[in-house]
Amino acid sequence: VFLLPVFGFIFNRRSTVKLPKIFHPGSTRIRCPRCGWQPAKTDMWMCSPGCGHVWNTFDTHGICPGCDKHWSHTACLKCDAWCQHEEWYEQSQD
Ligand SMILES: [Zn+2]
Ligand SMILES: [Zn+2]
Repeated sequence: VFLLPVFGFIFNRRSTVKLPKIFHPGSTRIRCPRCGWQPAKTDMWMCSPGCGHVWNTFDTHGICPGCDKHWSHTACLKCDAWCQHEEWYEQSQD
């Protein structure tokens, strides 16, 4: 009797789980999609209309620490344009 080997219980688990992108401060540049202005750590935004809290909106990805309001758009302090918060993040190509 010739027995075929049975591999039925061998799991070929190729990882299809994509790890979330790790935020590297050095590899992501923040700049205004409209005029190219790059905010500094010391630049502040005010939650208005809102709770009036003043903070750097890029520290919290557009979420006000005072009232948890999620600002989907961020105003440029230089050209006054309102752009989607995500558009401010520019991934470097390397
Ligand atoms: Zn701008
Ligand atoms: Zn607020």
